[in-house]
Amino acid sequence: MVTSISSLASSANSPDMPAPVVVICGGVGAARLLRGIVPAAGDGLTAIANVGDDLELHGLHISPDLDTITYTLADAVSAERGWGLEGESWQAMEMVGRYGGVDWFGLGDRDLGTHLYRTHRLDQGADLTTVTAEITTAWGLDLRLVPVTHDRLRTMVTTVDEGEISFQEYFVRRQHDVAVTSVRFDGAADATPAPGVLDAIADAERIIVAPSNPAVSIDPVLAVPGISEAIRARREDVIAVSPIIGGKALKGPADRLLNELGRESSVVGVAEWYADLVGTLVIDTIDADLADAVSATGPRPIVTDTIMTQAGVTEALADLLLTTALRS
Ligand code: GDP
Ligand code: CA
Repeated sequence: MVTSISSLASSANSPDMPAPVVVICGGVGAARLLRGIVPAAGDGLTAIANVGDDLELHGLHISPDLDTITYTLADAVSAERGWGLEGESWQAMEMVGRYGGVDWFGLGDRDLGTHLYRTHRLDQGADLTTVTAEITTAWGLDLRLVPVTHDRLRTMVTTVDEGEISFQEYFVRRQHDVAVTSVRFDGAADATPAPGVLDAIADAERIIVAPSNPAVSIDPVLAVPGISEAIRARREDVIAVSPIIGGKALKGPADRLLNELGRESSVVGVAEWYADLVGTLVIDTIDADLADAVSATGPRPIVTDTIMTQAGVTEALADLLLTTALRS
């Protein structure tokens, strides 16, 4: 257990400069955490996001995790869904449905504007980092949010009944209610990290792995050649938050996928999944009795409240992640 707390500012390059921090991000779990991290980490933060969920639909380039993070930090996300915009209407999708088009992937009318803009800018030759910065700036955010790669990377899921299907066919169309045997990251082997990503990891005072789905949100980021090596080289400075609480995911298929891919659905399974990558694993108070088992797999456990829908938890968790001494 951690006993000493050190201030990030004191270990920064200069007293006035916030220490460089990297957060490895999926969607909802990462977005919730960033609400606490962004105000506390200031200019020092680089959020590196998954693009394995991206898809081309209706001729549009859709980046669900980048948008979930942007909309959440802009206080514009749908509280009920956790993704998409609050107060959204769905008339365009109703029209698509009328024509018998693809309408299982919900795109709200306002949200569509984001995809129209992104697609047009990419068609003009802008890269995804630039377009993402334009979008976050337009939402009033001061945030370095970087897709892990500009190359095409697509999470593919092999199901028992249908063979291999795309991530969104699995996650949205089948409501992740199908048995899975494996996950693959199409294009990953030929992808290169987006500019600045490897430097951000190398220069970070600490690297935080958000409580995102290990198998389909964090693993696609790690699948880009060079990324997992760069993070592993910093293992002692890497701190992850378990997305599994009391054996269950708060939302989505992380618990089921851990099981299907050969791990226990528990903080111990998460610790095993991340054992060579993560020096410290934050687990929920509910799982306090598993701290020793986590420790036995490698990562040093820290037990605290991690359910960020509860008042005050996000801020306290962000403070812990940014200030706990990771090296004893
Ligand atoms: P997606 O890309 O939008 O599907 O979301 P992520 O992969 O980023 O996050 C999904 C995971 O986040 C699930 O396994 C949830 O259990 C986890 N999660 C969501 N909210 C919280 C939270 O408040 N605390 C913790 N510890 N995990 C959370
Ligand atoms: Ca996602």
